[in-house]
Amino acid sequence: MEAVAEPGNLADVRNIILVLSGKGGVGKSTISTELALALRHQGKKVGILDVDLCGPSIPHMLRAQGKAVHQCDHGWVPVFVDQEQSISLMSVGFLLENPDEAVVWRGPKKHALIKQFVSDVAWGELDYLVVDTPPGTSDEHMATVEALRPYGPLGALVVTTPQAVSVGDVRRELTFCRKTGLQVIGLIENMSGFACPHCAECTNVFSKGGGEELAQLAGVPFLGSVPLDPQLTRSLEEGRDFIQEFPKSAAYSALS
Ligand code: ADP
Repeated sequence: MEAVAEPGNLADVRNIILVLSGKGGVGKSTISTELALALRHQGKKVGILDVDLCGPSIPHMLRAQGKAVHQCDHGWVPVFVDQEQSISLMSVGFLLENPDEAVVWRGPKKHALIKQFVSDVAWGELDYLVVDTPPGTSDEHMATVEALRPYGPLGALVVTTPQAVSVGDVRRELTFCRKTGLQVIGLIENMSGFACPHCAECTNVFSKGGGEELAQLAGVPFLGSVPLDPQLTRSLEEGRDFIQEFPKSAAYSALS
């Protein structure tokens, strides 16, 4: 699909936030999705750019899978996930003929798509663009940061789980942020204990507090802990708005 390059496509985007994690499966896409929902809850207009090319899960989490990306004179029109058009989403998931198809691309093709995602999507006016990145610190991260850099200061939200291994990965993420000039907004510890749906008690399945300790050591803000919550898993699977259903949840307080 060829789009007409339009350098001004991000000109009306006020804040750009990259969501990073040291490894996969720690809840980066979950946090990106819940962050967008939390911002919408506060009346903001939000775009989500899913550059996790090999694991695009956000269309599913927002019940937008199977929707089509259209073209206008300014490039690709992102998919609106709600009637009010307050959350728009662009993902490689919309460009694949079969959503279960694996993206087996070499670096240059991935870089070209990332560049196109940045220059060719007609986001319009947005308060926030949330960018869900692949796990780790890869060439794709470099390509994303380089493509987005002209559009203003870039914030970074780093997601970790409490285990030491994940916390070690976060150290590398923070080094990446420092070297590439990303402004770390803060660290979120996800899957921090298990929230029992029956008695609301939180059990520490893994060790606890690693994220907070690391944030202190690294001198970055600690934004909060989000427990493993079966209701959150269900909301994500069914594409429901967890933040609206549970505005007093730990997820909302960490993200607002
Ligand atoms: P990543 O993007 O880091 O690979 P995901 O956001 O896709 O990870 O999360 C992996 C799985 O864990 C998903 O099925 C998601 O629903 C679930 N999950 C993530 N965080 C939580 C949480 N706090 N509570 C319950 N389930 C969660």
